[in-house]
Amino acid sequence: MSLVATGLVKHYPVRGSDSVVHALDDVSLELAPGETLGIVGESGCGKSTLAKVLVRLEEPTSGTVVLDGVDLTALSGAELRRQRRRIQMVFQDPYSSLNPRKSVGSALEEVLIVHGFGSSAAERRSRVRELLELVGLSPTFAARLPHELSGGQRQRVGIARALAVEPSVLILDEPVSALDVSVRAEVMNLLSGLQKTLGLSFIFISHDVSMVRQISDRVAVMYLGRIVELGGWKPVLDEPLHPYTEGLRASVPVPDPTVHQAIQATVRGEVPNPVNPPAGCRFHPRCPAAVDACLTVMPQLTEVHPQHEVACHVAVAEGHLPLRAITS
Ligand code: SF4
Repeated sequence: MSLVATGLVKHYPVRGSDSVVHALDDVSLELAPGETLGIVGESGCGKSTLAKVLVRLEEPTSGTVVLDGVDLTALSGAELRRQRRRIQMVFQDPYSSLNPRKSVGSALEEVLIVHGFGSSAAERRSRVRELLELVGLSPTFAARLPHELSGGQRQRVGIARALAVEPSVLILDEPVSALDVSVRAEVMNLLSGLQKTLGLSFIFISHDVSMVRQISDRVAVMYLGRIVELGGWKPVLDEPLHPYTEGLRASVPVPDPTVHQAIQATVRGEVPNPVNPPAGCRFHPRCPAAVDACLTVMPQLTEVHPQHEVACHVAVAEGHLPLRAITS
């Protein structure tokens, strides 16, 4: 399995005006077999839009998503449904996507029917039992209704539903953010185990640097619709090159959507309006290290150390985090 996204742009029109919301601008990434790519950034940085564009829940304004040589953005109808099965999404709140009147077993069986898995009702029920056991739930959970489940159990059902169609990639959008701290570790361990057992690739999206650090092989840091730093989790999170990554790293995670309050402890100001993002480097109004070029020239991702890229004029010129960003 290989997933390659190139030049993804997603702009949403603003009603009653010619303006657009710049949700994603020129985002490119690659995911290798069995790899976990963490995507981290503040609320509103574009990470959830990226997830939806990757699974074609949203149409990109431009750009391509290629899975094993097949351009998903060029497909429609039955072929799109067939290929899309291979990339599944797990949401932050599985409760919102479960029918409150349908048992867990019926919900899972429905997915199998829609995608043509199992040749008989008995075969599908057997597969439902298997799926529940795969995510650490007893088969007796098939008879339960969503409101009879804890948050952790619901998320396990959400994971089972994503696995029902035998995907090779899971896009995990804040999968543990809504859970109690004590349950988070259990679900994170479950995900790691499933990845090894089933050979899955993950895109793990979170505002919480500690969660991303725990599970990722590589990390992409997003700011205002763009990737600003990309590389192995250790260099990016322990020796960041971008002042924004440094700010994220130093912040104390708090639940969305107020995470920006924690960021403000280290990075000044608010996230600018994505309808009218700043010219040049989008981070310049908040950056303690900005120089004149930052106000007019958009920095591009550049490899500064082996497999460690950053979009920052000063970091690229100096090869390390801009000094003023550390000291101010
Ligand atoms: Fe952006 Fe300039 Fe700050 Fe680098 S130094 S993050 S290019 S504003």
